Amino acid sequence: MLLIDGREVAKQTKAELARECARFKDKYRRAPQLAVVQVGEDPASQIYLKNKEKSAAEVGMQSLRFHLDKENSQEELDSLITRLNTDAEINGILVQLPMPKQFSVEAVLNAMNPFKDSDGFHPENLGLLLSGRPRVKPCTPFGVMKMLEHYKISVSGKTAVVVGRSNIVGKPMAQLLMAADATVINCHSKTKDLKEFTRQGDIVVVAAGRPEFFDSSYFKSDAFVFDVGMHHVNGKATGDVNFKSCEDKVAGLSPVPGGVGQMTVAMLLKNTLDLALYQENHRLL
Ligand code: NAP
Repeated sequence: MLLIDGREVAKQTKAELARECARFKDKYRRAPQLAVVQVGEDPASQIYLKNKEKSAAEVGMQSLRFHLDKENSQEELDSLITRLNTDAEINGILVQLPMPKQFSVEAVLNAMNPFKDSDGFHPENLGLLLSGRPRVKPCTPFGVMKMLEHYKISVSGKTAVVVGRSNIVGKPMAQLLMAADATVINCHSKTKDLKEFTRQGDIVVVAAGRPEFFDSSYFKSDAFVFDVGMHHVNGKATGDVNFKSCEDKVAGLSPVPGGVGQMTVAMLLKNTLDLALYQENHRLL
């Protein structure tokens, strides 16, 4: 079985980004800058943010953290985003999710300049993706596409099954696979006989948010399986796939940890650099 190693692909992607960031610095006399907005104190988010900031530093990108607490208002968050939108030094903005429930994700995304949307979640960017003219691709699905490319797993003409239809993972994943000429089946919680569909997949991306839900009976033996799920069970990181059950029963599998999550961070940095270049080339600010 091929172990689809997110750490290795992310390492290579970041090395390439470091070279591109160095060229950016030479040309524009400054590093690309990512604004990281944290709202509240979600403990998992703290870890993800530290990872993102560490990775940004590794490739020579500057990250600046802005922190609001749960006593702040939506208006204060919106006005921070507006300020970052017009700050010529800031190239990309990331608002770490989840936020405390009194804050609206939709309002934040609507307030954000779509040309600074490092995550690729802005409705305009999702619309461009849907119309086949992507500007910024959502990081996690973009990371899966990069892994497919790295391991030369052909997509064109293959049957790809995506489990999950969220705006940030499932839907853009299905879209990117379709754009790469796969025949795509998109499953969700109302899908009847889920297994009947997943077992058709040459490529299966699972993003259901169900810890170790998928055992080997969900996949055919020549499937390449990408596990997007991210959970902590009894203090241990795990995915949507029961790794032990599937190990050596499929053609390829991405582990958790060390799989798709590594790529999400790398693609966030790639998006930020691409936005920085776009802004410089189009003098958008
Ligand atoms: P989400 O918004 O909760 O969406 C989950 C999707 O899975 C929904 O579309 C849901 O269907 C579907 N689903 C739930 N249970 C199902 C079942 N039993 N059978 C079939 N479909 C089912 O979650 P998300 O934000 O997309 O994230 C999914 C997972 O990926 C989570 O574990 C999250 O932590 C992880 N994640 C990881 C990364 C990374 O970098 N590795 C990034 C983002 C998210 P309905 O639409 O019908 O409700």
